[in-house]
Amino acid sequence: MGKVVSLLGSTGSIGRQSLDVIGALDYQVAALTANRNVELLEAQCRRFSPKLAVCMDPEAAQALRIKLADTNVKVSQGMDGLLEAAVMEADVVLTAVMGMVGLRPTLEALKLGRRVALANKETLVCAGELVMDAARRHGGEVIPVDSEHSAIFQSLQGCGDRGEVKRLILTASGGPFFGKTRAELEKVRVEDALKHPNWSMGAKITVDSATMMNKGLEVIEAMRLYDMPLEKISVVIHRESIIHSLVEYCDNAILAQLGTADMRLPIQYALTWPERVPGPAEPLDLLQCPSLTFRPPDLENFPCLGLAMEAASVGGTRTAILNGANEEAVSQFLEGEIPFLTICSQVEKSLNRVSVVQSPSLEDILEADQAARRIAREL
Ligand code: MG
Repeated sequence: MGKVVSLLGSTGSIGRQSLDVIGALDYQVAALTANRNVELLEAQCRRFSPKLAVCMDPEAAQALRIKLADTNVKVSQGMDGLLEAAVMEADVVLTAVMGMVGLRPTLEALKLGRRVALANKETLVCAGELVMDAARRHGGEVIPVDSEHSAIFQSLQGCGDRGEVKRLILTASGGPFFGKTRAELEKVRVEDALKHPNWSMGAKITVDSATMMNKGLEVIEAMRLYDMPLEKISVVIHRESIIHSLVEYCDNAILAQLGTADMRLPIQYALTWPERVPGPAEPLDLLQCPSLTFRPPDLENFPCLGLAMEAASVGGTRTAILNGANEEAVSQFLEGEIPFLTICSQVEKSLNRVSVVQSPSLEDILEADQAARRIAREL
């Protein structure tokens, strides 16, 4: 039977691919939200007829209101609008917004016992314990959309006892700069960092892939989602992005999920789980596959991964500080204000300057995030 989806962040890369899947499955849309891309959001509203459309930007919301005056779509704005979309009557809240803004809507949806299909990794990185705790207490579900975590989720199906898991193995493409020396990395430009070899994604996550911070954030994400200690998670460079991640069990069996680099599969699985249905994701032709290679990550030239692991082992607000400082540094890099290698050194400095609160409340987390951004801007 068709489901009803509330989609937060519908105009970004994941949002657009989500609507591909939703259209193919003939699901209904309760709400669509965007930052300020009025043209695309209007077109999406006309195609999917949600009850509610939200622009974070008030001026964009006003423009959308005028454009949709001939429809029954209600238009709201800002964080209030985003929260309204998160608690709409729906089977799944798919959050594909970027950054910390996704945290409160996720918590509100979980408090209603909803399924949250989570493509917003910052939420789990900054507030993973709060989020998973809200899910447990209110009977909500957090289903990962990130390809690695979906691969792990798929490889864990049928595993009744997590004690049987020896370790989770996250694969990493290594990004566009794999194999480069530090001297070479000093010279890379914004347009080089935006050329990912395998995946087509938004700018922020593409830069995170180039620094390997993305994989560091994903290690933290995996710890929170699957309640695993850092020692039970490893990262392996797999340039071909065919194996999306693996689970090694105590009997030394390793289960993996393979597929093309097509986000529509993990998006769809988060919507249909525990069922599988035919969908729009590109099939993988094993006979056309390149040879599969595996190498250890290069922590010396890509120190962001090590910084994230360190933050994960400290815990508390340390991961929110890491994330806030990184978001700020990446946006400065994208604006051409700092060179590539400064992203990591700036994150490191922020980590050293903001003190950590253990077992943080939502307020502690938001404060740590703000403090980290402030310091990153001052630097
Ligand atoms: Mg990923």
